[in-house]
Amino acid sequence: MINYIKYISLILVLNIFSFSIVKAKPEDTEIWHPVPPIVEVPVIWDPPSDAIILFNGEHMNAWQHKDGSKSKWLNKEGRMIVNPGTGNLYTKESFSSTQFHIEWKAPAIIDGDGQDRGNSGIFFQKRYELQILDSYDNITYSNGQAASIYKQYIPAVNASKRPGEWQYYDVIFTAPTFDKEKKLANKARMTVFHNGVLVHNNVIIKGTTVYNGQPEYEYHSAEQPIMIQDHSNAVVFRNIWIRHLAE
Ligand code: MG
Repeated sequence: MINYIKYISLILVLNIFSFSIVKAKPEDTEIWHPVPPIVEVPVIWDPPSDAIILFNGEHMNAWQHKDGSKSKWLNKEGRMIVNPGTGNLYTKESFSSTQFHIEWKAPAIIDGDGQDRGNSGIFFQKRYELQILDSYDNITYSNGQAASIYKQYIPAVNASKRPGEWQYYDVIFTAPTFDKEKKLANKARMTVFHNGVLVHNNVIIKGTTVYNGQPEYEYHSAEQPIMIQDHSNAVVFRNIWIRHLAE
């Protein structure tokens, strides 16, 4: 009996010993070197070196009103602010297919609801609207909320931040083309990221944005200005840049 207990004890000791040898420990797979270097990331998304700067806080020289007059919107503390009632702003330069970046915020003080809260919009080629709206806890028709392609496409998700917080859009806009007879050859397309979240993946634009009725294409020349909408709300902008895209 004593021999038997000794035998069992020996087996146990050996088992514990062997177990301690083969058991994987978390630190076995920890790699501590090399240490990745720390890099500084911009608070504002700096434009790439080949971008055309449309607004960087210094002046509004890239913009004009429909009649060619100087911008009457406000330039306060490096922000471009809609001056309600002064009208839409257009880039002086015209563009075809583009990559476009804009940062915006709806007024922090909530005034109005639905389409009357933080409404503006980016009109590519002054026709095809990507909606700007305060869509944080603000119900409206889905194809008219923030990041909708107005009255054409509902965004895949609502990535809106609170009013008064900076938001951004990154857009790839493919311009439509027209043949020699000025007939539509290829429809426009748009890919949109709202605050870094994909909300439209290369969707086909149905035509010029309209408030009433169905969108249709109208002939226009290949390069057209970008328009930002004055919808009577004091929406704030910063860091607007654009890059020409090869056809
Ligand atoms: Mg709008």
